[in-house]
Amino acid sequence: MKTFEFIRPADAGAAITTAAQAKTAQQGAEVRYIAGGTTLLDLMKLNVETPGRLLDINRLPLDKIETTADGGLKIGATVRNSDLANHATVRRDYAVLSQAILAGASTQLRNMATTAGNLLQRTRCAYFRDTAMPCNKREPGTGCPAITGSNRTLAVLGTSEHCIATNPSDMCIAMAALEATIHVQGPKGSRAIPFGEFHLLPGNTPHRETVLEPGDLITHVTLPPPRSGSKQVYLKLRDRASYEFALASAAVVITVAGGTVTRARVALGGVGTKPWRSPEAEAALVGQVASAPSFRKAAEAAMAGAKPQTENAFKIELAKRCLTHALQMAATS
Ligand SMILES: Cc1cc2nc3c(=O)[nH]c(=O)nc-3n(C[C@H](O)[C@H](O)[C@H](O)COP(=O)(O)OP(=O)(O)OC[C@H]3O[C@@H](n4cnc5c(N)ncnc54)[C@H](O)[C@@H]3O)c2cc1C
Ligand code: SF4
Repeated sequence: MKTFEFIRPADAGAAITTAAQAKTAQQGAEVRYIAGGTTLLDLMKLNVETPGRLLDINRLPLDKIETTADGGLKIGATVRNSDLANHATVRRDYAVLSQAILAGASTQLRNMATTAGNLLQRTRCAYFRDTAMPCNKREPGTGCPAITGSNRTLAVLGTSEHCIATNPSDMCIAMAALEATIHVQGPKGSRAIPFGEFHLLPGNTPHRETVLEPGDLITHVTLPPPRSGSKQVYLKLRDRASYEFALASAAVVITVAGGTVTRARVALGGVGTKPWRSPEAEAALVGQVASAPSFRKAAEAAMAGAKPQTENAFKIELAKRCLTHALQMAATS
């Protein structure tokens, strides 16, 4: 492994100034923030990431969960996944987020993993993590062996001829359904990024995964005020019951009045190249009777644009059943 310099910046400004010296904030960045380290250190051991400088952000004051003036929630970038999932307000008002986080990884990992680190976790595509193999995401222009190779766990939504890697996060799927906003401080100031605009589709630049630029530090995430009476469920389907990434998952936040769905927010995991919000499913649900046939129709709408790879056509039906069941669970909860 390449040697690196480990720095503990005194404040966010110092961290941003140093990180801004990198040429990119994407794959191959020479400077990286390090939070829990559960993604970054793995990739450094594999030589997939080889930063020359690591900026430890764990001492910056970004570890609070607070109520906002409008009644929403502000979640600091270095809040540990365990603390977020078990926070009383999150369990009560944003249950889908708590459920999603607790469905991921292991207790030990969640105790280290942070909010911002989770937003930026990398794909588990085996070729990406193996430097003996070509991979457009790791080394642009080298090709995508997954398209003709091992792709059982990879994406069916949002793929391109250059990359079919799945975004593996559970937390992000709940945040997409909750319409979170990501707050970033960078060399040019602060900005707020709606969740759906943060992650990028692979297109012909799969090495660019987010809109982050050199120096950009995620400071916190906000959630809008909870909708009273909304029902929330995160359902994750995987090869084994724990410590495994999703083959398909669904985050649903729905409101039902008099037996009719009046509001719906739906996002899917395990099937998309980015956390996959489904406006198609949401439109199919609103105004319909909260019943199994309309839930199935919404699931059909969500997966209408899916493109199977050689080994993962099963994910399309799996995702439909996952979403249908999640909606049923929410409606009857
Ligand atoms: C064995 C294993 C199993 C797992 N299973 C699951 C699972 O089932 N579901 C799931 O969702 N996840 C799973 N994960 C992934 C885990 O959730 C992530 O590794 C974790 O959330 C990353 O957070 P971190 O704080 O450790 O990130 P780090 O490794 O510290 O950082 C990750 C990336 O984010 C950047 N970064 C960190 N903080 C900031 C910031 N404030 N601003 C800008 N950039 C920043 C870093 O530079 C780095 O590029 C698993 C991980 C492992 C190792
Ligand atoms: S799917 Fe993406 S990450 Fe996997 S080998 Fe192809 S380019 Fe690389």
